[in-house]
Amino acid sequence: MKIIIKADDCWFHYREKDFLQFCVDKKIKIALGIVGKGLEKPDQEVLQLVKNNLDIFDLFNHSYNHVVEKDFKEFFKTDLEYQEKSIVGTHNIVKEKTGYEMKTIGFPANASDENTKKVLKIAKEKYGYNNLFNVRGSYNYNEISEVGLNILNLSITTNQFTEDDPCILQIHPFSARDEHQVEMTKLRLTAIQNIYKIILPREI
Ligand SMILES: [Zn+2]
Repeated sequence: MKIIIKADDCWFHYREKDFLQFCVDKKIKIALGIVGKGLEKPDQEVLQLVKNNLDIFDLFNHSYNHVVEKDFKEFFKTDLEYQEKSIVGTHNIVKEKTGYEMKTIGFPANASDENTKKVLKIAKEKYGYNNLFNVRGSYNYNEISEVGLNILNLSITTNQFTEDDPCILQIHPFSARDEHQVEMTKLRLTAIQNIYKIILPREI
């Protein structure tokens, strides 16, 4: 079975270097959820590490500010202009700083609203986005699924899951509370690599 490792919340902070270097050393392919704002002042070593290993890393658009509040989120109950700036701003700063042109998106907290549907259409038609990480049954799932992006479903508890669908594993190695958690994640990924074929969103 194929598996995609979705690693959220990459801010290009120096603390992220250890995990990224591990992936490079072990050749473990990872989809990195990039927060655009982090690229305004990235750690230069982390930036170089990502840039030099784009065969291992796929980068996906994970918003510009990564707002996750109780009552509103980056793509939930925010206005259309804000959402468009978030997606386009992240797309452009990633392209400028890494040379990489993202084609996949995943929302903070997997939350979206009716404005997101309009912005996703722009992402698809103007920037060529084709993949969306999401959870079946999440906020506005039915509406955004109409946009026609290929949905990489985080939930496998559905009878619509087939052998050909990659299994998606969502991890948060960059916001781990302590070193122990990061080491556990590394161990798990090493085990997963021995069992599954790890692929990137762009390889679907
Ligand atoms: Zn996130």
